Amino acid sequence: MTHLSRAQLQQDLCYINGQWTGAEQTIPVHNPATGEQITSVPLLKEVETRLAIEAAHAAGEAWAATSPKQRAGLLRRWFDLIIEHTEELAQLLTEEMGKPIAEARSEIAYGAAYVEWFAEEAKRINGDLIPDGQASRIFTVVKQPVGVVAAITPWNFPSAMLARKLAPALAAGCTVVAKPAEQTPLSALALAKLAEIAGLPAGVINIVTGDPVAIGRELCSNALVRKITFTGSTNVGKLLIRQSADTVKRLSMELGGNAPFIVFDDADLELAVTGAMNSKFRNAGQTCVCANRLYVHASVYNQFVEKLTDRVRKLRVGNGAEDVDIGPLIDSRAVAKAASHVRDAVAKGATVLVGGGVHSLGENFFEPTVIRDVTAQMLVTQEETFGPVAPVVRFEDEADVIRQANATEFGLAGYFYSSNHARAWRVARALECGMVGINTGLISSEVMPFGGIKQSGFGREGSHYGIDDYLIIKSLCHGDLN
Ligand code: NAP
Repeated sequence: MTHLSRAQLQQDLCYINGQWTGAEQTIPVHNPATGEQITSVPLLKEVETRLAIEAAHAAGEAWAATSPKQRAGLLRRWFDLIIEHTEELAQLLTEEMGKPIAEARSEIAYGAAYVEWFAEEAKRINGDLIPDGQASRIFTVVKQPVGVVAAITPWNFPSAMLARKLAPALAAGCTVVAKPAEQTPLSALALAKLAEIAGLPAGVINIVTGDPVAIGRELCSNALVRKITFTGSTNVGKLLIRQSADTVKRLSMELGGNAPFIVFDDADLELAVTGAMNSKFRNAGQTCVCANRLYVHASVYNQFVEKLTDRVRKLRVGNGAEDVDIGPLIDSRAVAKAASHVRDAVAKGATVLVGGGVHSLGENFFEPTVIRDVTAQMLVTQEETFGPVAPVVRFEDEADVIRQANATEFGLAGYFYSSNHARAWRVARALECGMVGINTGLISSEVMPFGGIKQSGFGREGSHYGIDDYLIIKSLCHGDLN
């Protein structure tokens, strides 16, 4: 196969039943760093979504009947193509989403790792043999694909969030209709292009772009769709849960976060500052697992804040295509939210140490910010800021900081730094969240179960648990065995 260029990978049509399909109306896709229009993609609604669902359903039987080894082989080929096209995919991602190109390359590798992992897991969908009290009976447990899966993904990791859903679904023998975020559809369409070249049969992957409300309604109400897997905000997640009730669908929800990041007095401060930088400022703070609230023990508070501020001052802000640390936020609404959180904190008594406002580069850029003397009464600690703002709260004792960390309806990730082994075990168990970083600010990997509790959702992506979300368990009772 010839290597595709960046331009050849950019698709501006939807992918339905193995055909690249357009529509009369389109939606523009912009580069958030420059404001320029990159291209436009089809504005699809219910009717086209129904066609995609029907295509996925029609392809489902043959796909489910393929051997695990066949599916593994196809996924492996897709993985190889993604890796081979890392640079082109990363450029596309940075252009539509804004993140620095180095982070875009990491995202492509991260998403691809799920494809590789689930190519391997496809071969390990095992059942059980269960003996009964009666000698004449025995049970077997078999696992089968759920059926047609609808996947809805956000703009902040437009490639990896989709790969993380497609890979286990396909490995399990499900077919998929995916709807990427309207601001970042190109990464999803490029993944579909590579899947097509890898030889995935028509109808197995379908990508629809367009009206989120119309597409979402059809995906939720259509009885042929057996499962919805969603990554995005808690509010949209709740809507999808409600909309799916009438057809009683299987659901996986990867929703919003409000991660606490705790630095105890026995922490290695250098390590903690590096962890805070990694967790808070990756993707300009637009990650669901990023540290949203930093709690630092009073005895090391001033030292930590000073070191963090020094590091944040050195961050280079600019167009993600250049050699920078922080790109634009996704749009000016995101900038306005970060600005309003900073304003609210200052009005309630906090002090901005660096940054704090819209960046001179333009309306989509926000200055990397550190705020001190933050309290529980401020929006920065109560809501997901989703921007490069590090609010630092002072605390005195362990029980109090755990109470503050858990005082949120969210429960996705949490982090803490301590060199005390007993404390590490105690705090890790006490934090109400699905994932905990202990002496590290980077937690995600394809080998670990990713997901939240409370209003951060349910279901797990990645690891050997991840494929279960796409399988049904069927019990077979074998009688008359004597
Ligand atoms: P969002 O507004 O909820 O959008 C997510 C997806 O849902 C997009 O594709 C969006 O489409 C679609 N959508 C919006 N309204 C819909 C509707 N009525 N019916 C069906 N689909 C609809 O979230 P976002 O702003 O893109 O992403 C940021 C949020 O995602 C944050 O809260 C973040 O924490 C969360 N997130 C969670 C995880 C996790 O694993 N837990 C990972 C990443 C992000 P349009 O773009 O076309 O509107």
